[in-house]
Amino acid sequence: MKIKCPKCKGNADLAPDFTLVTCQDCNLEMSYGEYVKYVAHNDVTYSDILGDYAGSTEGQTAGTLDEWD
Ligand SMILES: [Zn+2]
Repeated sequence: MKIKCPKCKGNADLAPDFTLVTCQDCNLEMSYGEYVKYVAHNDVTYSDILGDYAGSTEGQTAGTLDEWD
């Protein structure tokens, strides 16, 4: 299965059993678990989504604490 290479943005190959990600363009080779972590740390869009989520959660927590006072 072809997936986007996190290193060179080319076509990487995900093994049919989801264990290994390889890219012939840049000789990338990592487990799928490592791939997911790599993408999460390097994909700016994904980080933005997490940042927004943390921000809204903080707001809700503050509001809840105020109500308890
Ligand atoms: Zn690559």
